[in-house]
Amino acid sequence: MADNNTAAETIFSKIIRQEIPAPLLFQDELVSAFRDISPQAKSHILIVPNKLIPTVNDIEAEDELTIGRMFTVAKKLAKAEGIAEDGYRLIMNCNQHGGQEVYHIHLHLVGGEPLGRMLNPK
Ligand code: AMP
Repeated sequence: MADNNTAAETIFSKIIRQEIPAPLLFQDELVSAFRDISPQAKSHILIVPNKLIPTVNDIEAEDELTIGRMFTVAKKLAKAEGIAEDGYRLIMNCNQHGGQEVYHIHLHLVGGEPLGRMLNPK
């Protein structure tokens, strides 16, 4: 995977900069959050670092604050969505076997209904 200087931007960078008008549920200096365009559950939010990090394999030690912020924002958004008590799932896919489609890491926050087993049987 290319490093961050040469990695290609995805649509998520345009959403973060609001060049594409997707409503932001949250934004600070490190992360942004918006609803998934194709929700897989009643509630499906993406928490994304503002910095382009293509995959989990590209996370560096200097990104630890950002990665931690993604989780504290996920927790707050789960509460705001009213799904915190019943529970939810946080997912981050990596590369082909993980089913990653957008090469700008993102934490899926999914919930609002029972989600079943973690992995579908093959
Ligand atoms: P992943 O397969 O983990 O890379 O997930 C990519 C996610 O991005 C999918 O759930 C898509 O539905 C979602 N997605 C793609 N384009 C957009 C967009 N323009 N706005 C919001 N979500 C998007």
